[in-house]
Amino acid sequence: MSVRFHGSGLEVGRSAISVSVPGTRLLLDCGLKLVPEGEEHPLALDELTGELDAVLVSHAHLDHVGYLSDFVAAGYHNPIYMTEQTARLTRLLLEDSAKVREILGHHSPDPGPALDLIQHVRLEEEVRLPGGTTFSAHQAGHIPGAAGLLVRGRGRSIFYTGDICTRKLHTIPPAELPQGPVDCLILESTYGGLSDVLPTIETRDRAFMEMIGTALERRGTVLVPSFAVGRSQEVMLTLHEHKKELLHHGNVRVVPCGGMLFGATKVYDKEAKRPIGLDTKNGPLSPIHIPKNRRIEKVASGEFPTIVIATAGMLTGGSSPRYLRHLAGDSRNLILIVGYQAEGTPGRELLDGSRRIMIDGQQVDIKAEVGFVSFSSHTYHEQSLSLVQDLSPGTVLCNHGEPLKCAELASAVEERLGIKASAPPNGTMIRVAARPT
Ligand SMILES: [Zn+2]
Repeated sequence: MSVRFHGSGLEVGRSAISVSVPGTRLLLDCGLKLVPEGEEHPLALDELTGELDAVLVSHAHLDHVGYLSDFVAAGYHNPIYMTEQTARLTRLLLEDSAKVREILGHHSPDPGPALDLIQHVRLEEEVRLPGGTTFSAHQAGHIPGAAGLLVRGRGRSIFYTGDICTRKLHTIPPAELPQGPVDCLILESTYGGLSDVLPTIETRDRAFMEMIGTALERRGTVLVPSFAVGRSQEVMLTLHEHKKELLHHGNVRVVPCGGMLFGATKVYDKEAKRPIGLDTKNGPLSPIHIPKNRRIEKVASGEFPTIVIATAGMLTGGSSPRYLRHLAGDSRNLILIVGYQAEGTPGRELLDGSRRIMIDGQQVDIKAEVGFVSFSSHTYHEQSLSLVQDLSPGTVLCNHGEPLKCAELASAVEERLGIKASAPPNGTMIRVAARPT
């Protein structure tokens, strides 16, 4: 058994890892990487279109599924496996991404043929592939539908975490790991650095509500730029959880914005114990719907206390940049960042302290307060080490993280747990050895 990194080696984005076992070749995830200049695709992947027996997908974020339409257009024609909830979200993402590409003047293949190849898998179900290799999907937390993937073939095993969260969120239960040990663990390292310390959900919620409370107190408007899938739902349920506190500030309106946010919330609600119900007036959050053409002015006027939750999460498109432009000039307002901000994005510039940023080619001066509360649904340094201990792998390959994070996590696995670990760059091919007994 061997693995090869086509993307996600020492980077966040374009997750795509091919696995070869005698008789079977498969791909773990098929994502793309959004960069300021456009997008980056997995390396040397198209040459495998005719050779792969299956694509296994961990979850519906663009950096894990965004290249599927292109890969199928390039000639891949075998099954694409994922959970049913991931399939629903993937449909939304690929259709939206095709529209965005066309708007930006890039050709996008029709996502239809890729969507037609999708086959649903249930969690914990063992699926047999040609050549005798099997795989199973395991609850990964992170976002609705997300799964870690366990592949077994010819006496070897790999567990690929995808993006994983081992603590319970308001929206989703924690990850459930498969029975170890495994020969090789491919471990996401988004927050794997030594300085990455996970706040408890209570601490997170407290910081979030306090910042919002202070801004509302001074009659400011709050903008929460948020990823449509997963994060927006967690933010909305957090506001609902602490609704009583909001009521101290009068009739606070929550304004969710973005077609993808609504679509993803519907998919979430279908299987949720506590649905958000954006379309029902009696939903737990009772968000306000203002006609689209008047919404931004109405919100920016500050005539009622408002919290806007708008996509995109890194202020790179969608409605969050438009709200930012309207709200940036008033020091009473609060721009509250809740997620990972990739280098080169306006969100990252704000977090790094810049108060003059470019939005859609226009210079914007930021007088509003900029706050950050991590709503991350990944494991952090210590939780990742516990996960490694639980699975007791023979080797660990740290991926899906900036180079320093991957390296620090790999070093800690070796030094503290005595397990062989590395952080391979893209292009690396690694033979999976049997776990030492
Ligand atoms: Zn993700």
